[in-house]
Amino acid sequence: MAENKLALWGGPKAVQNDPGNTFTWPIVTEEDETAVLEVLRRGAMSDLDVTMAFEQEFAAWQGTRYTLGFNTGTAALHAAMFGVKLGVGDEIICPSITYWASVLQCFSLEATPIFADIDPDTLCIAPGDIEHRITEHTKAIMVVHYLGHPAEMDTIMAIAQRYHIPIIEDVSHAHGGLYKGRKTGMFGAVAAMSLMSGKSLPIGEGGMLVTDNREIYERAVAFGHYRRFDDAIKSEDLRPYRGLPLGGQKYRMNQLCAAMGRVQLKYYDNRAAEVRQAINYFWDLLEGVPGLRAHRVQAESDSTMAGWYSASGHYHPEELGGLSVTRFAEAVRAEGSVCAPGVNKPLHLHPLFNTCDIYGHGQPTRLVHAHRDVRQPPGGLPVSEHIGSHTYRMPQFKRYYPDIIAQHAAAYRKVAENYAALLADDPGDPPELNDWPGNLN
Ligand SMILES: *Cc1c(COP(=O)(O)O)cnc(C)c1O
Repeated sequence: MAENKLALWGGPKAVQNDPGNTFTWPIVTEEDETAVLEVLRRGAMSDLDVTMAFEQEFAAWQGTRYTLGFNTGTAALHAAMFGVKLGVGDEIICPSITYWASVLQCFSLEATPIFADIDPDTLCIAPGDIEHRITEHTKAIMVVHYLGHPAEMDTIMAIAQRYHIPIIEDVSHAHGGLYKGRKTGMFGAVAAMSLMSGKSLPIGEGGMLVTDNREIYERAVAFGHYRRFDDAIKSEDLRPYRGLPLGGQKYRMNQLCAAMGRVQLKYYDNRAAEVRQAINYFWDLLEGVPGLRAHRVQAESDSTMAGWYSASGHYHPEELGGLSVTRFAEAVRAEGSVCAPGVNKPLHLHPLFNTCDIYGHGQPTRLVHAHRDVRQPPGGLPVSEHIGSHTYRMPQFKRYYPDIIAQHAAAYRKVAENYAALLADDPGDPPELNDWPGNLN
């Protein structure tokens, strides 16, 4: 059939419709503009009133006692680490597949990361790869609800409780998601998340820390919120130092962003539900297509994909004659759709975690405060090291427009059904897809 000829070979493109605002993100309306202008006209960018109002509304939405706004998610996670007393010589267990800001800040606290592998289905930290990495130095476990998928908290919580190790949740991909009926961000001793513009809950640039633990909250305030470091601090350990930030950081949220955040939060649950409806529809249309599998929870009910940040799919080349995801993605893009091979690259292979002497200690920073050579050479985290050639980033549908979504699904189906025609000149996946270039030995 002529219309089944791949666009790569001159056939008609599967995606013909103008996407309109299908992919537009963030959604900014006059209400956001009015709120931001109010702060701008008042010159109140560096004040605290709007941020504190946002924090209160966020606390009510999240369901935690304490919330603290930050200028980035990176900063919020840094303060969360300080909050649980991660310090000199301590180890923090973190999945290797995540954005660097889930863990890299630990170096500045003189702690060291220990990477764990991921589960090939959820793409979150593998519950079975945590316990054997725990030592007397383990002070925290970082759990990332990766690409919107909730991590397997039942098993992870049981391990953390057995060893009395606090969990920090990085909720940057899963704001307001559910795991077995309970909100992400409500499992750990503390949770922190990014609110930057690409994230599901976008406020410009910003981060939020949430916790029910007073001590963690006070330490997070003391670390980088010098102007609040008076009223907010009751602890006798911290009060003598009030007025100056213990972390030497200035981490408060910009109120232009807080103002946008207050508006975005009002609409977030509805917008996230529409994103889930759209992406679930895409995957329902592709059910049973060889080589392609959804990255999603079993059924949307008491567990959800939150705002489905950076939605991605699983790829099974063995069902498509070994066709590389690189070649597959190229053919899908030729059809007018979106497909980018891979997810985040494995952090444990990056030279920053292996050879770099960041602070001039005369040896790799990773080792300075470690009690043994904690570096993790290639081969140690097999799922993380190979996941790049088994995944791809799909179209980021933000609206439920069934006709448009159906065309994109048709593009994926068409390429999968015509895989044999692509095998002959398949260049294969480049090594960088999985590993950081130049760091393989
Ligand atoms: C975006 C992100 C962060 C960092 O947040 P910023 O607001 O960009 O500083 C941390 N962790 C994960 C998993 C992220 O995706």
